[in-house]
Amino acid sequence: MPSLKRILVTGGAGFLGSHICERMVDEGHDVICLDNLFTSQKQNITHLLTRPNFEFIRHDVTRDIWLEVDEIYNMACPASPVHYQYNPIKTMKVSVMGAINVLGMAKRTRAKVLQASTSEVYGDPDVHPQPESYRGNVNPIGIRACYDEGKRAAETLFFDYHRSNGVNIRVVRIFNTYGPRMHPFDGRVVSNFIIQALKGEDITLYGDGSQTRSFCYVDDLVEGIIRMMNGPDSFIGPVNIGNPGEFTIKQLAELVIKMTKSKSKLVKLPLPKDDPTQRQPDITLAKKHLKWEPTIALEQGLVKTIDYFSKLDLRQFRKPTDHTAHKSSNR
Ligand code: NAD
Ligand code: UDP
Repeated sequence: MPSLKRILVTGGAGFLGSHICERMVDEGHDVICLDNLFTSQKQNITHLLTRPNFEFIRHDVTRDIWLEVDEIYNMACPASPVHYQYNPIKTMKVSVMGAINVLGMAKRTRAKVLQASTSEVYGDPDVHPQPESYRGNVNPIGIRACYDEGKRAAETLFFDYHRSNGVNIRVVRIFNTYGPRMHPFDGRVVSNFIIQALKGEDITLYGDGSQTRSFCYVDDLVEGIIRMMNGPDSFIGPVNIGNPGEFTIKQLAELVIKMTKSKSKLVKLPLPKDDPTQRQPDITLAKKHLKWEPTIALEQGLVKTIDYFSKLDLRQFRKPTDHTAHKSSNR
């Protein structure tokens, strides 16, 4: 029986954060979910609100907060390109000031703190697949930079607090993850394609669909993150967590159409600027140090995700931003 801990999950009402909260509540820990609900809604955590060991605080992570905790999962940050480009300056603030705030809290309370970093630190990679030693190819002045550079700066802060103040850190670089509790209007490729296919609308391929991504099912991802948090202090990362199964975006579209038996057609829209052409995690380190690798293949994970979206009452969800990329879900 593991000892009971006080755990803070920033961004805990979001897609990944809500799954981490649920796992921690089920294990009996005392869980604080901190979120300003920018890109999520309370629906993701309503089932936890009645649990005595769960608490929700509506708060912006860029603002100071004092809490006494043993562990922090720092998940707060808009993650979909549509959301993080909506207010790019705020995105950079969330990454940098959010990191400073949780690191300060960790320093004061001697908590262990895990940063949700991203494959975006590799930018549009010219090394394939991407190992953690690859330093990346990020355009520092492009439209994705607010997120990519924000997350890179957050990694820097984590390592400097570790070296300068002895803060016990963990850094995970998350690759594209999908599954139940993604916001239906977050504009990411899996949620977009499934909703479009279920409604019989055109499937919006950006560019010719030859760009690749490697998709990890949420349960696998959460298991990897928790193993990293609970792993030895000698392995602080950064570590890639993702599924090496690589697909073109066109292949994903065709698979979703087949699995939903949809009559949707593919339409081509302009490729957003700086959209990475390829992405695949090298997970050698995660296998070695965490004994972790994904177990759920794309088609299996899509079955569960399609089932989730097909039962969702979309009228209960508002579009978090009026970004033009939401046009496809406005039709
Ligand atoms: P999400 O948008 O569903 O969740 C992010 C959560 O953070 C939301 O609940 C949002 O309201 C909250 N948030 C945003 N700004 C905040 C602020 N200023 N203060 C407090 N809360 C705030 O996205 P997600 O997919 O669950 O991503 C969670 C984390 O994992 C993010 O840090 C993201 O960068 C990282 N990540 C996710 C993926 C992925 O594929 N899902 C890939 C790489 C990295
Ligand atoms: N994409 C697409 N159609 C959509 C949404 C996304 O073709 O409706 C593409 C996008 O251009 C990118 C890939 O799918 O190449 C993954 O996009 P997503 O926004 O999910 O995340 P990213 O990995 O780019 O951060």
